[in-house]
Amino acid sequence: MRRIVTVTVIALAFPLLVHADAIRQTKGEIYDAFRQLDVDLPSPNMYRSASGAPGPLYWQQRADYDIEVVLDEGRRHIAASETVRYTNNSPDSLRYLWIQLDQNRFRTDSLENRTRTATDPLTILDRKNRDVITFDELAYEQATRETPYGFEIGEVTDARGRVMPHAIADTMMRIDLSEPLGPGERTSFSIDWSFYIIDNPRVGGRSGYEHFPETDSYIYFLAQWFPRLAAYTDYTGWQHKAFLGRGEFTLEFGDYKVAITVPSDHVVSASGALQNASDVLNAEQRRRLTNARRADKPVYIVTPEEAAENETAGTNSTRTWVFEAKNVRDFAWASSRKFIWDAMVHRQDDSRVPEVLAMSFYPNEAQPIWSMYSTQAVVHTMEVYSRFSFAYPYPTAQSVNTWKSGGMEYPMITFNGYRPEPFLQDDDNPVEVAPDSTYSSKIKYGLIGVIIHEIGHIYFPMTVNSDERQWTWMDEGINSFLEYLAEVEWEDGFAAYTPDPNVLDYIVPYMLSENQVPIMTNSESIPQFFDNAYSKPTAAMIVLRETVMGRELFDFAFKEYSTRWKFRRPTPADFFRTMEDASGMDLDWFWRGWFYSTDHVEVGISDVREYRVSSKNPDTEFPLQREENAKLYPESLTQQRNREEGITPRVERVPGLEDFYNEHDRFTPSNQDRNEYTEMIDGLEELERETLRRAIEENRVVYFIDFVNSGGLPTPLPLSVTNADGSKDFVTIPAEIWRLNHRQVTRLLVRDKAISAIELDPRHETADTDFSNNHFPRRIAQSRIDLYKSAEKDRDLMRGMLEKLRESKGQAGGSGREVPLDPGQGEQ
Ligand SMILES: [Zn+2]
Repeated sequence: MRRIVTVTVIALAFPLLVHADAIRQTKGEIYDAFRQLDVDLPSPNMYRSASGAPGPLYWQQRADYDIEVVLDEGRRHIAASETVRYTNNSPDSLRYLWIQLDQNRFRTDSLENRTRTATDPLTILDRKNRDVITFDELAYEQATRETPYGFEIGEVTDARGRVMPHAIADTMMRIDLSEPLGPGERTSFSIDWSFYIIDNPRVGGRSGYEHFPETDSYIYFLAQWFPRLAAYTDYTGWQHKAFLGRGEFTLEFGDYKVAITVPSDHVVSASGALQNASDVLNAEQRRRLTNARRADKPVYIVTPEEAAENETAGTNSTRTWVFEAKNVRDFAWASSRKFIWDAMVHRQDDSRVPEVLAMSFYPNEAQPIWSMYSTQAVVHTMEVYSRFSFAYPYPTAQSVNTWKSGGMEYPMITFNGYRPEPFLQDDDNPVEVAPDSTYSSKIKYGLIGVIIHEIGHIYFPMTVNSDERQWTWMDEGINSFLEYLAEVEWEDGFAAYTPDPNVLDYIVPYMLSENQVPIMTNSESIPQFFDNAYSKPTAAMIVLRETVMGRELFDFAFKEYSTRWKFRRPTPADFFRTMEDASGMDLDWFWRGWFYSTDHVEVGISDVREYRVSSKNPDTEFPLQREENAKLYPESLTQQRNREEGITPRVERVPGLEDFYNEHDRFTPSNQDRNEYTEMIDGLEELERETLRRAIEENRVVYFIDFVNSGGLPTPLPLSVTNADGSKDFVTIPAEIWRLNHRQVTRLLVRDKAISAIELDPRHETADTDFSNNHFPRRIAQSRIDLYKSAEKDRDLMRGMLEKLRESKGQAGGSGREVPLDPGQGEQ
């Protein structure tokens, strides 16, 4: 189908270049890239200090939950009820409470569904600007149309059982209180609800179920599954911006007690610690679990063979698993009869939580890589992250395989993808390997990487509780930075970013790209989401740690931020201020450049000039000037060729024509020159005379090095200097060199040794976007080039007709009829 589109072109009656950037103060080319951030950051107050620490009157709300939920496997449906105790620690009286109903996002009339845009062809590598619709988009449309997804809210009652008025606004629900909840007061209320679990492979999203048709079994992974208190904060009041799919969750801490009723052959993984092992595990499983608490490598609680057996048996009875989670901001769970379960202990130097049980839950389809890597990656994450922040704060850390790729985080539990690709049987090409024994390196490193990332989120934002609905970078960016550190510590050359594992090389195309927004942009309005909110902050933090601040100052300041805001809710300003407060560095230019602007790093060496200090003594200097002059102005070609042809100048042929000037050129010192030199020396101050004397004695080399900055982002200048004697020095010029002129600077270097070459950023530590101007003198770029052959393959219809017809796995609606090849109807 083609659509005819008419476009009306209108003349714009207003200037196109209205720069809405009130931050930048411009006169001519120069602006103050080092201007302080004060006007851009919120004013410090009693809740948030100017140091970046929580203020003396810092407060946050609290919500404790008791939940009972029943999974109806036949209908892929849950029914549940909760009692919430809400504590108002704010100085305000609240007349109503806001509740998050995230499942409502999947209703056909949700704000997100009504404002979905078609896939941008550019994002799926189809560069021919034409309309595209993906299988995923169509499957989503079909699934949300055929099942009434979203919360079905039943009774909402107060502590005395009275019905509470409530109103639903998209993914939020307001509950009206019969009387205002004053500062320091607590209230409790109950909600009944139910909903259809989303078919995750079709609908997408962060939870749902996956169906395995071979055994007609399921994996359920439930998140955003209960009505959750919206956050009420000192900086924005209620955070009740609708859930549009990206800006994740802004939540309050509390204690949870959750009873989950599932078919009795299911294994349940959930936020928190299991309270009733004796009701749901058999004696052998309990014995294995006890062993796991002492195991320094993963041991099975449910073996792959037992999981395979569970999968085929089936049951009509149910069991209730009870979990408790203390001081968490959310609760998620997963349930399946397919789960293999392994566990080991992670010991840490922390009196409150000395031991953490690291666990993984996965189906046989995820083997063999899950039993090899999952729980080990969980433990590795805790080792690395705890060193940079704080001890892991909870008793369990779990990784559950819930989908083919990707991941999602909750307190103590993470949903992670990556499975070996199912082995495609091809009768014509039998391969002699077991179906599950191969996997690509992408799947291996994807799995380890996603587990590190999601377990890492239990630190940021599950413990350092940033406002995800507002700022994606505060959890994804900081977490991706630590993930990168943990990956590099997993193995050398870890394929964290492709094709180059160095994030500072990876980020270059994004930094140069058009239609970019600053990192400081609301989650829902970010084009190129991953690079903006994950990779660019990672790159920024690496530059900050390795090059701007150095590891010692950075690590101390970052740990200070983590511990100040552990179990609290930081804002961007709290991060920026703490990093400065604890390091003694003014980093406003860095936050402004990397977080508030779309500038990139593009610096080069444009010129280098070498000097020695002149003695001004004509007897020393004039001969040197003569040499220099000869180098600057070689003999003219005419004069040179005359000599080669044997033409002798007249003054040499005719005697008597030569005089004083033929013996002395303009570089011959005269007595007048000598007297002027003596007068000059006598006229110098004592200090000046001594400075000149010493300079002549030391004969050091003076360099003027010109740097240009066409990217706009101020950057340190790491320099590898090769000396004339072959030795090398490494010098890093701090970024403050750009504080008076962010476009070009000249650096004066006085050195003992002459320099033969300078290379800027040889270790790729600044995210510089173009290395061709980083050498002085310039280098010839060397590479290898392929010969290009252009030929298009002909479509051979006759050959195509003779091919054997293959059986399809399913009927997609098209005709599978075989067309016989008629000898009379060959290709024209
Ligand atoms: Zn993440």
